[in-house]
Amino acid sequence: MHRMRAWSVRNARWLKALYSAVEIVLRAFNPLLRRIGHERLDRPFVAVEKLTKGFLLDSKQCGQCIVGFTGMSCPMNCPKKIRNGPCGGVRGNGACEVDPDMPCVWVLAWEGNKRLGGDGYPIQILQPPVNHQTIGKSAWLHELRRGGYRASPQGLAGNESYWHLRSPQSGFARMYPAFIFQTTSSGALRAQQTRKKKASTSAST
Ligand code: SF4
Repeated sequence: MHRMRAWSVRNARWLKALYSAVEIVLRAFNPLLRRIGHERLDRPFVAVEKLTKGFLLDSKQCGQCIVGFTGMSCPMNCPKKIRNGPCGGVRGNGACEVDPDMPCVWVLAWEGNKRLGGDGYPIQILQPPVNHQTIGKSAWLHELRRGGYRASPQGLAGNESYWHLRSPQSGFARMYPAFIFQTTSSGALRAQQTRKKKASTSAST
């Protein structure tokens, strides 16, 4: 499975495009899915997700997919289940500190993130902890229920956290508004880096 994880990260761009296509189809059919009942559809959806995401991403079915933020590397494969990684123990060769035979999922995430293009923005967004009530349930249906996909640039591959952070109802957003502003705004990050650079230049002169 390690090989498959690495392959998915190498092909993050088109895998993300595939996710977006799935999102469009599911969004179109959501009125029908709602009529049938998301609860009733959960098991077949989980079976499909296990087959597809399980094979491609070695997904651990947390029910709150954030691979759109992590370069198509499932963070639940981290032995410490770190959603904002990496930990401080990554080995020099990029292997995991807990399992030396496994590439650190966050090293892979960084590689995948670069392949997704952009300026490194998605991986810098702070992710909330996993809600254990959704573990083992369909991540796609979960997102459709929340309606979060409409607000997310990451689509079904990562709108759980985006929605959490951006939603005015989000307790998390209320608790850490300044931090969220800094972590969700690439412009703010760049401004911060420029300020630091200027400060160190003026200190050295
Ligand atoms: S090295 Fe990477 S995969 Fe291993 S525990 Fe730390 S963050 Fe998780």
